[in-house]
This record gives sequence, C-alpha cells and structure tokens, in this order.
Amino acid sequence: MAKRKSPTEAEDAPRIIGGGTHHEDVPFDRALRPKTFDDYIGQEKHKGNLRVFVQAARQRQEPLDHVLLCGPPGLGKTTLAQILAAEMNVQLHMTTGPVIEHKGALAGLLTKLGPNDVLFVDEIHRLSPVVEESLYLAMDEFRIDVMTGDGAFASAIQIPVPPFTLVGATTRTGLLTAPLYSRFGHHVRLDFYAPEELARIVRRSATILGVPITGEGALAIAKRSRGTPRIANRLLRRVRDFAEVLGTGAIDEKVVHGSSDRLDIDAAGFDEMDRRILRILCVDYEGGPVGVETIAAALGEPRDTIEDVYEPFLLQQGYLGRTPRGRIATKKAWAHLGLEAPSALKASDGPLFVAETSATRTTP
Ligand code: ADP
Repeated sequence: MAKRKSPTEAEDAPRIIGGGTHHEDVPFDRALRPKTFDDYIGQEKHKGNLRVFVQAARQRQEPLDHVLLCGPPGLGKTTLAQILAAEMNVQLHMTTGPVIEHKGALAGLLTKLGPNDVLFVDEIHRLSPVVEESLYLAMDEFRIDVMTGDGAFASAIQIPVPPFTLVGATTRTGLLTAPLYSRFGHHVRLDFYAPEELARIVRRSATILGVPITGEGALAIAKRSRGTPRIANRLLRRVRDFAEVLGTGAIDEKVVHGSSDRLDIDAAGFDEMDRRILRILCVDYEGGPVGVETIAAALGEPRDTIEDVYEPFLLQQGYLGRTPRGRIATKKAWAHLGLEAPSALKASDGPLFVAETSATRTTP
C-alpha cells in the first residue's frame, strides 16, 4: 500500500505558494541556503540567543543543549540546524523521524557521531514510540540500550554514545509528547517573516542567481510569499522565467504583478486554495464557526494539511479566527472576497469574531 505523505512532504500537484519542498527546489535550496548566522536574515531574537548558546558551549567544549525548532515548512529550520553545526564547528548528520524505523537504526546513527556533533531529526513528531523512548536515554545520559544475543540468550546492554546535540524540527510543538518536548534545552519557535525581511532574502537570492531586481520588485515578491523564505525563493525563480521570456530579464514591480496574475496569486499572497477556504467559511457557512474536519472534507484534503499548510498563515494574518467550536471568518476575510460582512461582525471592533452562539453547525 502506498505510504501516506506527510503534510510537509512534496505535494502531489506542487503549489507555488506551498512551504513544503518541491523536487525542483532541492538544487536551489542548496545554493541559496545561508551558511552562517550573518547570512541568516530575520528571526533576530532567536539568532541572538542561539549565538550566545553556541559561544558558551564552545567555550566549555561541550555539546550545545538539545534544540527544538518549531514552525511551518520553509521558514528555515533545516538551514538553522546546518548553521548551528557549522558555528559549533562540528559535523551535521541529517535524518527524518519516520526513517528511523527501529532502535537498531537509532543505535547505528548515534554510534557514528563524533564528539559534540549535531544530529538533525526533521519531523521529529513522527518517530515511532519505541525509537522515541530509546532516544530519551541517549539525550539524557549519552547512552543507548542495545540487544545482544538471540532468543533465550538475548539481553540488553547499555553502550555509551559520544556527547551530541539533537536538533529536532517539527511543524507544531503540540504534536510532540511531553517527555520528548521537555528534554530539549532550547525551544525555538520560528515566526513568519516580515515583508521587509523577505525582500532582503529575495535580493540576496537574486544576487546569487545573477538576476537584476529592483527594491520594489523584491518587496512585491516578498508580499506574495506568505512570510516564508522558501516560497519567496520559488516565486523569484518563476518571476525570473517571465522576465527572461516576456521582458528584458530584469525584475521590477510591474513584472512581479504581471507574473503573479498569471500564476493566480493575489496581492495578499493567496492562491485558489486559500480563497476556497475563505469562501467555505463566508459563503457556505455564513462566517462560521466551521470545524476543521468540515473544511478538510469540503476541500478533499487531510485535516493535518489544513492545520499545517493552509491555516497558519491565514490565522497569523488575521483572516481566520480559532474558537472552541471551529474556525471563523474575520472582517478581513469578507473584505478580501469582496463580500459584505454580516452586520454583527461589522458593528464590532478589533479582529472580531462572530458570537459563538450565532452558528452551531459543526463541531471543531
Ligand atoms: P524548513 O527546514 O523550515 O522547511 P529550510 O531551512 O529548508 O526550511 O529553508 C528553505 C529555504 O529558504 C532555504 O533553502 C533557504 O534558501 C531559505 N531560507 C530559510 N530561512 C532563511 C533565512 N532566514 N535567510 C535567508 N534564507 C532563508
């Protein structure tokens, strides 16, 4: 039976403004990925703290405490793991949660590490419970249980592993078990990037790719990139195609606007899928609340995909609200669709949600 894809894996019909990796991104991701803290744009607070922790660990000649990186796909978790290893001057070993199928595979990984190396486990919430449990001892005491012998002669022995730093990445911390979560010394929750930061990322990438771009052009790409560097870099590449074939090769605001129209990405950085979510809420359910399962069924997508891929940016930008009864449309959502908001919503101030008693169609 085909394995179910995780919401952050490459999507079947790649979505230009999806944060997950597309196969065509891989060589560009490699070329554009910042290698040092200085190149890593934005996330200033986290970067400042991590610099201190790295320096302190290096002075003590100890491994960095285990780090949990959390945030939607494409915000720079893998990049940060690589930078941490480079700044610690140690090797980075990369894997993903579901790939470590059993305790033996984990033991194989851990015994290959050099002192203070970084083990990066992407999608760490998808570790099997047995593997996760063996990881606890490794994280706490740098030891691991291995089984020797067969049948009646089988016994467990503990072998030491080199001191190491586990850098785990996950889309939402709520997906982690409490014992795993509490074993990380540093918890870094990456935020969506501001348009000005993304514009700096676009300008840096354009320089590496040798594409001429104006400041306004970079900002226009940034505003349509859902606060996500991977999307900004992908959109830059698509706009470059239009500029090279239909224009002079240089990118300015006009080229970006024309290209985004052709790609069906609107001024807020939304595509048809986002607008469908807003229409389900506003048109089909009169503003909500609508349970996330209902939204998922209407779109024909798994619930996880709605929660990990589509919803975070709509929530962060204030187009959706979350209530115990489900998702609700805000004034901004109605305005974005060019529809008149219900009078109860119009009369209220702030980010404003429909009173919970007004609609009880679904459960969350
Ligand atoms: P994640 O692991 O969170 O899915 P990545 O670390 O793979 O995201 O980042 C995706 C791409 O976005 C990288 O190849 C890199 O080029 C770019 N990127 C991410 N964060 C930054 C940043 N802070 N500054 C510059 N480029 C970034």
